[in-house]
Amino acid sequence: MNKRKNIALIAHDNRKEDLINWVKENKDKLSNHFLCGTGTTAKRISERTGLDVKGFKSGPLGGDQQIGSRIVEGDIDMMIFFWDPLEAQPHDPDVKALLRIAVLYDIPVANNKSSADYIISSPIMNEEYTRGIIDFNKSKK
Ligand code: PGA
Repeated sequence: MNKRKNIALIAHDNRKEDLINWVKENKDKLSNHFLCGTGTTAKRISERTGLDVKGFKSGPLGGDQQIGSRIVEGDIDMMIFFWDPLEAQPHDPDVKALLRIAVLYDIPVANNKSSADYIISSPIMNEEYTRGIIDFNKSKK
């Protein structure tokens, strides 16, 4: 990972306000990085904070899968994903797949505000970092 990170921002509907507030609180720090997100989340964050956030498709329309594929390709370095613990989502399989891919590719993930606070305040946030990607061929043997 380079010093300037590619950060994916995603929030389910009931958690969008919390994510927008977190981005506002951390606007200065986040403005040093490249931001992207699922369609509605990206659009709302852009509108409310003025930050440039590249939008993929909306989550239920495949946005989670697009972000997952970018993680696989090495184009996303970390993810702040406020998923809703109290409501079922129509695209739950996509959410699960995205979380699995994030673990597999060893990218930092925050699923709530306190975790996001810890990540953004980390001394290695603005340093280069080598992730520990599982060697699947080795673990299969
Ligand atoms: P949205 O998608 O940002 O387009 O609402 C988020 C999600 O539901 O995964």
